[in-house]
Amino acid sequence: MLKGKAVLVTGSTSGIGHGVAEAFAAAGANVMLNGFGDAADIERIRQAMTGTYGVDVGYSGADMSRPDDIRRMVQDTEARFGRLDILVNNAGIQHTAPVDEFPEDRWDAILAINLSAAFHAIKAALPGMKRRGWGRIINTASVHGLVASVNKVAYVAAKHGIVGLTKVTALELANAGITCNAICPGWVRTPLVEKQIEARAQQAGVSVDQAKQQLLSEKQPMTEFTTPAGIGALAVFLCSDAAATMTGVSLPIDGGWTAQ
Ligand code: NAD
Repeated sequence: MLKGKAVLVTGSTSGIGHGVAEAFAAAGANVMLNGFGDAADIERIRQAMTGTYGVDVGYSGADMSRPDDIRRMVQDTEARFGRLDILVNNAGIQHTAPVDEFPEDRWDAILAINLSAAFHAIKAALPGMKRRGWGRIINTASVHGLVASVNKVAYVAAKHGIVGLTKVTALELANAGITCNAICPGWVRTPLVEKQIEARAQQAGVSVDQAKQQLLSEKQPMTEFTTPAGIGALAVFLCSDAAATMTGVSLPIDGGWTAQ
């Protein structure tokens, strides 16, 4: 379906981004991976995707907190594939603490990686997309782009910001053949959430399994994790002809979290 297209997925060495990159590779797109991690593990991911799907898969080690790195990553993607058609802004970090105790350096890092990086990547990718008259921008927001939770002031602020960024980008590009949408997952069991489950188990003196159940049932009517593969399938759908007029939307995939 996406044969000949090139996609860049930020934060795709783990979790949701990995699932999204895999879904695009399965749909025939060439993929630029990005994110941190052990070099040998990342190379294994790259080779597995190439081998399984027969697409070209590259890797950029760009740090999403650095605008120059982001611009270079977009250039490297265009140089490798001759184009960048689909940009998935997905890299993200978390830190939890009450607002009056929230470390300033964590605020700055979360705003930089979870929000400003998407702006810099979109700005760098748009000239090529406009020239080709086709582009798809997908931002991994969160239910926390739509509603709030305690102790997540930087994350919630950044994710609400991503929803706003998505809407403005969609409006400005409405007649340029470029759509921009956000995906808003509820709980997805990735390393980012494992850390929160472990912290909860320690604080409450319960098992990791009990902490997992507590975490899910506190906010989500459906006590199941959303999967990276499910989010990947939704991202691929947003790049299909059927979704050509979907733009500026923030789509929950959240087990009913935001229906309440
Ligand atoms: P994860 O920790 O598994 O993956 C995060 C990815 O981002 C990794 O590849 C990591 O290397 C990369 N990354 C982190 N900092 C980076 C930096 N400075 N530069 C480049 N790459 C960097 O987390 P995840 O749960 O897969 O999260 C992915 C996205 O999904 C995030 O934006 C997160 O906010 C969002 N999200 C997650 C959940 C969830 O329940 N897991 C729910 C809603 C939204």
